Formats: sequence, structure tokens, C-alpha cells
Amino acid sequence: MTQNDTLFGKILRREIPATIVYEDDDVLGFKDIAPQAPVHVLFIPKHVLVPTMDDLLPEQAALVGKLVLAAAEYARREGFAQDGYRVVINCREHAGQTVFHLHLHLLAGAPLGHFGVPGR
Ligand code: AMP
Repeated sequence: MTQNDTLFGKILRREIPATIVYEDDDVLGFKDIAPQAPVHVLFIPKHVLVPTMDDLLPEQAALVGKLVLAAAEYARREGFAQDGYRVVINCREHAGQTVFHLHLHLLAGAPLGHFGVPGR
């Protein structure tokens, strides 16, 4: 692994297995290995490695749009768009980010409840 490589880079290159459920020219979607909801899919950019949301440059704005549109397309395709879903991007320590390769979580498949700091 190079300094800029990540676990998700290995999934992109098919060096480690993942359940890939979505792919287009720019985005790969695969099932989270430790799902937090009945549907939990991670969407990552295929061609640009951005470690965190805080590292995004203005000229990379479209990349986030592509992740969001991929998640929306997947939700429609899988038939839960009308029921609803949540997308999350964790950024660094307080959000619990563990993989430093920008990714969008898509959570769905049941009412998701409140989110944020427990007890608030
Ligand atoms: P984050 O905490 O936002 O950095 O999210 C990283 C996510 O990657 C977590 O939800 C993990 O469960 C998930 N994850 C870690 N390893 C794998 C893997 N090999 N395949 C799929 N998902 C993974």
C-alpha cells in the first residue's frame, strides 16, 4: 500500500473482495462490511483520492454531486427511494472516520431514527 492508498483503493482495483452493487464511469458502490441498517452501501469516487471531506477542492465539487446522484439512482433502482434513506459523510475523528478515502454512506431499509450525539 502506498501512502495514498487505502482499503477502498484495494476494493476499487479488485485486490480485496467486496459486494459491488453499483458502478458507473465515476463512482463505485459496495456493501458496507458492518452494516448499520438493512441497506448500507458505500459510494466512492473511482478516479480521485480525496482523504476527507475537508480536503475537497472547489474544482472537485462535481465529485460529491456524482456520489449523491449515484446513491439516489441506486435507491430508485432498488425500490426504496419513496420510503426514504439517509446519506452520511464522516469527516475525521469526531465523526468516527476510519477509512481516509472520501466515501458516502447510504443507509436505508427501515426507519432510521434520530442521529447525532446520543441523548440529545
Ligand atoms: P467511516 O467510518 O465513515 O470511515 O466508514 C468506513 C466504513 O467502511 C465503515 O462503515 C466500515 O464498516 C466499512 N468497511 C471497512 N472495511 C470494509 C470492507 N473491507 N468492505 C466494506 N466495507 C468496509
